[in-house]
Amino acid sequence: HCSCHILRIYIYLSEPPPALKRISPFQFSYTSNVEWQQLPKGKNELKIIFSSDGAPKIIENPQPPYKAISFIKTALLKVDQYAISKLDRENPNPFAIRDLMKNSALFHSTAFPLRHVVIPGKTVYQAVREIIYESIKDVGFNNALDGALMDTLKWIAFEKWNSKPKDFLEPFGCPHCHENAATLPFEKEKGQCSKCNREIFITDMFGLHLNMDEDFAPNQVASDYMTVAETLMIFTPIRYFWENNKQVLKNCLLVKDGPLSLRATLAKLAAPIRRF
Ligand SMILES: [Zn+2]
Ligand SMILES: [Zn+2]
Repeated sequence: HCSCHILRIYIYLSEPPPALKRISPFQFSYTSNVEWQQLPKGKNELKIIFSSDGAPKIIENPQPPYKAISFIKTALLKVDQYAISKLDRENPNPFAIRDLMKNSALFHSTAFPLRHVVIPGKTVYQAVREIIYESIKDVGFNNALDGALMDTLKWIAFEKWNSKPKDFLEPFGCPHCHENAATLPFEKEKGQCSKCNREIFITDMFGLHLNMDEDFAPNQVASDYMTVAETLMIFTPIRYFWENNKQVLKNCLLVKDGPLSLRATLAKLAAPIRRF
């Protein structure tokens, strides 16, 4: 269970057990093949810790026509070191973890039809593109997210930390005519392709449609979407503090699970993130 796994990482990060302390000051491996990193002790302790993580679940019917749907859940967790210090390190009580998550986590979940699922009036290709767009606009349970992922996407893509943000998005492949001519003006979330005039979404910049056919989306689409959501989640506190109180960022540690490289899916975000 991914959230537990992140919590466990933090339990070790904040206070490695004595047996591990003896091994080496910085890097050591634990019984599983996970490499544990001890939290470096500097002059200024990073007291505010955020982490994002996610889990994709593909449900495939074993009978023809092998309908497949994927469920994706991602979370942003603000790590409460005091609350974690009270958990059992080896076997944390799931209810204690649930309470901890309830008070300090933001959740986002969505589902995609991947194969052999009928959506009236739409192909899987269209439906998944629309769901990706609507999912990034997710307001969350009880409006907890309030569209934060979309705000963060626009913040990164238009480089809104600059006094003069970008007027247009960097061009990306149109999901209809496939020309590398799709772009959107500042702050816009959807519009028309300048070549074919068909509707494009800001989320088309990730190019997840490149792996899809009219009525087929591979499991990869779900895991790529998860990477996008995790990245936007971990950037949400960065955006928040940058806009409200930059000083706070000096005390923040941000941890993202999974591959740290920004692969093809995140190519359009990699350049702005590096400039940031
Ligand atoms: Zn994980
Ligand atoms: Zn086009």
